[in-house]
Amino acid sequence: MASPARTRVGRTLSLVIPMHDEAEVLDALFQRLDATVGQLSLALEIVCVDDGSRDDTWARMTARAAGDPRIRLVGLSRNFGKEAALTAGLDVALGDLVVPLDADLQDPPELIADFVALWEQGYDVVYGVRADRSSDTRAKRWTAGLFYRSFNWLAEREIPASTGDFRLMDRAVVEALKALPERNRFMKGLFAWVGFRQVGVPYVRPERVAGTSSFPYRRLFRFALDGMTSFSTAPLRVWTVVGATSAVVALLAAAIIVVRVLVVGRDVPGYASLMVVILFAFALQMIALGVLGEYIGRMYQEVKGRPIYLIRDRVGFDD
Ligand code: UDP
Ligand code: MG
Repeated sequence: MASPARTRVGRTLSLVIPMHDEAEVLDALFQRLDATVGQLSLALEIVCVDDGSRDDTWARMTARAAGDPRIRLVGLSRNFGKEAALTAGLDVALGDLVVPLDADLQDPPELIADFVALWEQGYDVVYGVRADRSSDTRAKRWTAGLFYRSFNWLAEREIPASTGDFRLMDRAVVEALKALPERNRFMKGLFAWVGFRQVGVPYVRPERVAGTSSFPYRRLFRFALDGMTSFSTAPLRVWTVVGATSAVVALLAAAIIVVRVLVVGRDVPGYASLMVVILFAFALQMIALGVLGEYIGRMYQEVKGRPIYLIRDRVGFDD
C-alpha cells in the first residue's frame, strides 16, 4: 500500500479499557499486558474507565495506578454502558495510536503487535475479526449472525461481520469519532461510518478469563435496536410501501365485491375472513406505530442533549 512510511519510533499507544465489575480479571489483565504490549517499542498509556462498578474495581485500580505512571483512570458517576465508557476513554486518550480493549482478555493483546505492523504499512484502522466464535453458545452465534445480516441489509454503511470494538485506530480516526455529536454511541457502527483505510485481522476469541458477561440477551436486543435505528431509516420508510400495497389490494378486493354483487346478487359475507382482514390491518398499524416510537424515543434522547457520561473521579491527570 503506497503511503508515507510510518514508524512507531517515538509514538505513544493508548489502550482504552472499559471496566464494569472487573476486579477479578485485573491481575491477569495487567500481567498479559506487560508481557505483550509492554514489549512493543512504543510508549504506553493505559486509560481505564470504571463504568459504575459495584465491586472493588476502582479501589484496586487506584492502588495499581499509584505504582504505575502509565495508568490513567476515569471513574464514571454511575453505569453508563460500554459504549459510553468507551467514548469517555477515547475522549481522554492522548496516544498517536488508540486500541479499545475488553478487560476480560477476550481481545487478545498479543494481536496488537500485528495491528501496529499493519498501521506502519499505512492502514488507519486495523480491526480484529472473530474467525471462529466457538467460545459463544450456538444461540448467541445465531442471533449475532442474524443481527449482522439484517444490519447490513438495512444500513447504508455495512459493518464487517463478527467485528467488535477491538481495533487499532490512528489519531486522525479518533479525532473524527470524537467530532461525531450523537449521544447514542453504537461504536461498531460509528467505527465503520468514519471510513479511512481499514483492514481486518482474523483471530480466535477466547472465553473471558474470570467474572461474568454484562450482556444478557435483553441488553443485547436493546443494543441491536440502538444500532439499527442509528444507522438506518429503512424501518421507518418501509411503511409507505406496506401501506401503498395494502391500499391497492383493498381497492382490488372492493372492485371484485362490487362486481360480484352486481352479477351474482347479494352475498352473505363471511365473518371469519372479515375478522382476519381487520386483525391483520390492526397488527400492521401497531407495528408501524411501534417503529415510529423507537425512532421518536431516540430523537427525544438526542434532542435533550444530555452528556454521554459524567465523570466522578480522575487519577493520573495533570489538570
Ligand atoms: N463493560 C462496561 N460497561 C458495561 C458493560 C460492560 O464498561 O455496562 C465492559 C466490560 O467490563 C468489558 C467489556 O465492556 O471490559 C465487555 O463486556 P463483557 O465481557 O461483559 O461483554 P461480552 O464480552 O460478554 O460481550
Ligand atoms: Mg467479554
